[in-house]
Amino acid sequence: MQNSTLNRRQFLKIAAAGSVVAALPFGTIQAETSKQNVHIVIMGCGLAGLAAAHRLRRQLPNAQITIIDGKREHHYQPGFTLLATGVWHNAQKVKADNAKLIPHGVKWLPESVQEIQPDNQMIITHSGKVHYDYLIVATGLRLGYEKIDGFEITALGQKGLGSVYYSPEAATATWQAMDIFRQKGGRALMTLAPTDMKCAGAPLKMTFMLADRIRQAGTANNSQIDFFAAKAAIFSVKPVADKVLELWQTLAVPPQVHYHHELAAVDMDKQMAYFRLPETGGETAEQYDFLHIVPPMFAPDVIFNNNELANENG
Ligand SMILES: Cc1cc2nc3c(=O)[nH]c(=O)nc-3n(C[C@H](O)[C@H](O)[C@H](O)COP(=O)(O)OP(=O)(O)OC[C@H]3O[C@@H](n4cnc5c(N)ncnc54)[C@H](O)[C@@H]3O)c2cc1C
Repeated sequence: MQNSTLNRRQFLKIAAAGSVVAALPFGTIQAETSKQNVHIVIMGCGLAGLAAAHRLRRQLPNAQITIIDGKREHHYQPGFTLLATGVWHNAQKVKADNAKLIPHGVKWLPESVQEIQPDNQMIITHSGKVHYDYLIVATGLRLGYEKIDGFEITALGQKGLGSVYYSPEAATATWQAMDIFRQKGGRALMTLAPTDMKCAGAPLKMTFMLADRIRQAGTANNSQIDFFAAKAAIFSVKPVADKVLELWQTLAVPPQVHYHHELAAVDMDKQMAYFRLPETGGETAEQYDFLHIVPPMFAPDVIFNNNELANENG
């Protein structure tokens, strides 16, 4: 579809991220779509896809809107942090049914998109092709746990292994490991991925909460927390990073921060973590009693492998 004020490629570019829903140029699109029965396809039924669907449904009564996502269960991911630190104990609290969250009048195709063909304004699913006039890409991030050698997601909760990101069950298992750790104390390693992350604040929250759980258990004197950041900062917004570092110094167990350490591998039996040091080309091995893993994160393959949509880093 040609649009004098906003062409399809511009729209695709603008709309290709969850965090920009509020910034979508709905006024311009509304002017176009109020005249015509255009088809808007939203890829992804997470918070971003749902927010876009609700807003577009209200503002564009003539548009045909379709959400495509094979995932049926909705997860309230900020709640994972509460499960993983023992504030919430019921994983059902973070679960909902996508079918109930999709607004009336929006069609849901419960499938995964295999390919986007921007030139044909077409997306391909396993059951066929869907034409769109406008496409909103809201597919979130893929968690790259496979990049950490020796780690298996099924081991979360055992032998001091935690990771808040993967699922409600993984968050619950993380609390099991943290709870066991804090009873005795020991050495906790907290990590940050070298890539962009969803909720880069979550590893910081986990660190605050871990220190507090240790304090509550009375094991602060036996405990040490080391925070390994893959880059030169613990958070990309400097005033936030500075404030967090200041607050960490007031905790019962102030974390020791190490920069330029990328988690590369674990030996789950020996409870050893191996870090790459990109600055020097070296590596280091660190023993742990509790390890919080933040995996590298990437665009889902359907974006990552599309040269028109992604750069070499996906
Ligand atoms: C532990 C944790 C704590 C957080 N805390 C906060 C917080 O305190 N405050 C805050 O603002 N944010 C927080 N966040 C971040 C927030 O939850 C996420 O930014 C938000 O959920 C991302 O929504 P999204 O829709 O972009 O992606 P997602 O929720 O990941 O949804 C993407 C959807 O796209 C679908 N999809 C992927 N590939 C395809 C495909 N090929 N075809 C069709 N569908 C596809 C997936 O199935 C998925 O349903 C937290 C996140 C985590 C993990």
